[in-house]
Amino acid sequence: MSEQNVSRIIQTLSSDQMKGRHAFGSGIDNAADFISAEFDQIGLSTLPDHDSYRQEFNIYALKPKQALVSVNNKELGDQHYFGLTNAEMVNWTPENSDVHYISEQDNYRDKFGEYSSDDQSSVIIVDKEHEKWFHRYRTYFTRSNRTFELDSKPNDVFILFDGKIDSYDITLENNIKSQTLSNVVGKIEGKRENEIVLFTAHYDHIGVVSAVDEDSIANGANDNASGVSAVIELARYFQKMPKPERTLYFVGFTAEEVGGYGSKFFSRQLNPDKITAMFNIEMIGKPAVEGPNSAWITGFDKSTFGEILQNSVSDSNFVFYPDPYPNQNLFYRSDNATLAKLGVPAHTISTTPIDVDQDYHNVTDEFSTLNILHTTNTIKAIAKAAKVIISAEQTPTRITNEEENLTSNN
Ligand SMILES: [Zn+2]
Repeated sequence: MSEQNVSRIIQTLSSDQMKGRHAFGSGIDNAADFISAEFDQIGLSTLPDHDSYRQEFNIYALKPKQALVSVNNKELGDQHYFGLTNAEMVNWTPENSDVHYISEQDNYRDKFGEYSSDDQSSVIIVDKEHEKWFHRYRTYFTRSNRTFELDSKPNDVFILFDGKIDSYDITLENNIKSQTLSNVVGKIEGKRENEIVLFTAHYDHIGVVSAVDEDSIANGANDNASGVSAVIELARYFQKMPKPERTLYFVGFTAEEVGGYGSKFFSRQLNPDKITAMFNIEMIGKPAVEGPNSAWITGFDKSTFGEILQNSVSDSNFVFYPDPYPNQNLFYRSDNATLAKLGVPAHTISTTPIDVDQDYHNVTDEFSTLNILHTTNTIKAIAKAAKVIISAEQTPTRITNEEENLTSNN
């Protein structure tokens, strides 16, 4: 772990050539290639059945297109309906669908939940008494959205209408655009292949934004080239060590900034019960309010992960402490949340004073604003703290009861 390497990695990933690394932008492939080349030079293994470090997947962007909604032989305007569908085109007729009513005295949200989660394709008639809720939901569900699979759920259409319906003929269409994204994943085989420790950081950022002083590229040096530099340097460090007890994965996630699709896809590819711990690293380019040689951990009290890290560095001058911004809900705002929901002790380690930082999601998030000595010291502390988990001397407790706090949005 050297300041030179940390600087080189952050400088490269935050250069204008990467165009702000937007997940759907033109610079993201350069970033994935760069991380892959580092993994290759370090000598990491690829995932089984992969001949490169890229873990590719498709994602589909859907946007409601045309619609023809006719009820009791009368055509309805678009303010009066919305669909829940990820098909290219759906047609509802009395022959292929059921009709349900959300009547005046029903609880709109309860009934909405009930009818949209069953596995039947339905037409749901909503009483005008619920007009306000209906429009709120309509605004939400007619936005463009993304999905890993098309045609993966039953199709429902909600219609604002007073009275009984005798006949209907409804057709909705979506515009569909397919895009390929990739996480970058390298591996160090341990003695126990079914106990995996993850070191992760998202490598995407927000891309090109409106210009400030003629600069429109949001370079994302702190967010999150700094985290990626940690993942790469930890890989370099542990690759030189004797074969670890547990298996180590080093992951650059894509698409964190646009909905966490990289971590969501990743989490579906392996059994979460085999993941012992996840070190997600976000924004370690600037010293925390408590000063350099300190880092905070989100969701500190949700498992013993934070405590283990704290104790492992207690003989050094570095301290880990609980996230000082509980009101910002940071535990739920990064890629760790996807894995935490599945029970994995998955936490984010960060050092940025986000309450006062002016550069967050701004074109000014540049290499020149970072403190590389601090970043390097933080990576060293993470390496030191991770040793007892990698060696299987310590195992953090699982995270429980997160289901209701985390809604999956695909
Ligand atoms: Zn970030």
